[in-house]
Amino acid sequence: MEVVSQNSNKQIPGNNKILVIGDALIDHQYWIDRMPNPGEDTVILSTSKNVGGSAANTAIGLAYLGAPTKFYGTIGRDLDGDLILGQMQVVGVDVSGIQFGEVTGFTITMIDQSSERTMFSFRGASSNALSMDAALLESIKTSRVLLTSGYQLLYPDQAAVVLSVAERVQAQGNLVALDPSPLIGDVPENIRARMLGLTDILLPNLRELAILTGEEDPSAALEKAPHLSKCVAVKLGHKGAWMSIRKGFQFSNGQMLAEDLCFQVPAIQVQAVDTTGAGDAFNAGFLASFLRNEAPENWLKSGNSLAGEVVQHRGAVSMFCSPSQSPAA
Ligand code: ATP
Repeated sequence: MEVVSQNSNKQIPGNNKILVIGDALIDHQYWIDRMPNPGEDTVILSTSKNVGGSAANTAIGLAYLGAPTKFYGTIGRDLDGDLILGQMQVVGVDVSGIQFGEVTGFTITMIDQSSERTMFSFRGASSNALSMDAALLESIKTSRVLLTSGYQLLYPDQAAVVLSVAERVQAQGNLVALDPSPLIGDVPENIRARMLGLTDILLPNLRELAILTGEEDPSAALEKAPHLSKCVAVKLGHKGAWMSIRKGFQFSNGQMLAEDLCFQVPAIQVQAVDTTGAGDAFNAGFLASFLRNEAPENWLKSGNSLAGEVVQHRGAVSMFCSPSQSPAA
């Protein structure tokens, strides 16, 4: 792999810190025999309650891997909010920038015997726009990477703050990473285009890549992926992950890639129990390796490795924090 050095006069302002902006929620999971019809009653066989929200999951995974991680999002001043703060602090996420709204958001997932998931979501305080306070401005200056998600782009006032943060990060010479999220197709076209224009590292799964490229066929979508961003890492479920990096992409130490590269790395062979948060864990492993300035192939290996661990546990972050879980059915 060929790299060209950056201009030696240029400072890398953000060192190895990462700023994560997004949702922090509570995930309630209920295992049942089958979904009841309207008006019917059904027994819950087992339950689990964990911290969730794509960005929160990734922030927790990053801190677990030792990456200096600061999380910005909005939660309620309630027991669920306390649970989020506690579990983030246990793994070492810097929560000093978290802002407060009315009620902490949550999701309820019903999982039937065939593993079919039916979800109900309430974003609560997570849908509030962040206020661009002095602490956030300071974090922008001192972070090498901003990671955010497509959920932050759904509402214009929230999107305006995230776009402004991303513009400031880019103006500092630092990098923007985006997990487009399953709802990226619902983001207004002008906002989506602006965010993609600011994104250095795009982290979609295959469904999201299909939305972004307009190609349902995976091979055709992967062929178009390099046009979306300088670095595009696509999560392929049990098949692992694929990545394209284009010439000129900047590594965490500021060096530039001198040639286009493409990799595919298989997933680790495990018995998956629950794939909730697999993509978020992949993002954490990938970005932690990127921030350590490892070779690009290792970004994928590290992503697959953490995601492969997570899928062996119930709940997106239960292997990082103490879960609150009833016995398995
Ligand atoms: P989610 O929405 O469930 O968080 P996702 O749809 O964004 O996940 P996937 O492609 O399903 O992303 O999975 C992310 C990563 O998790 C994969 O790239 C792979 O590393 C790992 N993974 C997923 N399923 C398995 C599996 N069955 N065995 C091993 N690893 C897996």
